[in-house]
Amino acid sequence: MKIRSVEKVIPAIATYEGAGFLVHRPFPSPSLDHFDPFLLLDEMGPSDLGPGEAKGAPDHPHRGFETVTYLLNGAMEHKDSQGNRGKLRPGDVQWMTAGSGVVHSEMPEASFAASGGRMHGFQLWVNLPARDKMVRPRYQEIPASGIPMAKSEDGRVTARVIAGEALGRRAVIDTRTPIFYLDCELAPGAELVQPASPDYNVFAYVVEGEGSFGSNRSTARRHEMVRFAADGDAVRVETSPRSSLRTLLIGGVPLNEPVARYGPFVMNTRAEVIAAVEDYQAGRLGEIA
Ligand code: FE
Repeated sequence: MKIRSVEKVIPAIATYEGAGFLVHRPFPSPSLDHFDPFLLLDEMGPSDLGPGEAKGAPDHPHRGFETVTYLLNGAMEHKDSQGNRGKLRPGDVQWMTAGSGVVHSEMPEASFAASGGRMHGFQLWVNLPARDKMVRPRYQEIPASGIPMAKSEDGRVTARVIAGEALGRRAVIDTRTPIFYLDCELAPGAELVQPASPDYNVFAYVVEGEGSFGSNRSTARRHEMVRFAADGDAVRVETSPRSSLRTLLIGGVPLNEPVARYGPFVMNTRAEVIAAVEDYQAGRLGEIA
């Protein structure tokens, strides 16, 4: 296997989303609009919140892509225009295919909001190919206990396999285009080599600690995204004897289609985006009962 090099380490920008919750966002940003097929990554928090301080994202629409919510700490509650309701607790994953469109709310769960505590998690936006942009909305909600946990032979690397395959374990979530999404933990002095054929765009996002990435051993720390070059068929992550690391490792085959995006609508043409806005304004994406 040929190990890919690192093209760039990109710091996340701290900003506020929804009703005013802190996110760290590596992209989109002035330096990186999207990383095909990925449109956005938000690290929610980490924020240590007092009673009543937690904020969420009240009713808003989506069309043309998927939102993947993965919670590490805290609790969230979602409702949508199709009558779906659910709660997310630490380790749970919600893979929502918005497709033709939903209106939903993503709020702190009531008892968590009342007591306060740590909110930390991720939301990844995955673009849909033109042929799938208007599919029926679909949810895949997997509790923490249902996410396969892979372990290296030496026991120094564990990976929660949210999508794709790693260390011999395969995800239970299915994706519409080839994608892997791994939450990896490396003990000090560990190494992970993940196969990723050159047609995948691959990045890492450091959650905690410090590691070195790729054939050129670029160092990255928390709130940094590591973008790999397409010059090999595997990515490597290593830790020194002094530091441990928790990192997301995410890859997908680019769609190579035009991206027309306006807020929560991501289509292929400007006309399709205008149609999405009109459908939303006319109530055709429904509303939360
Ligand atoms: Fe949303």
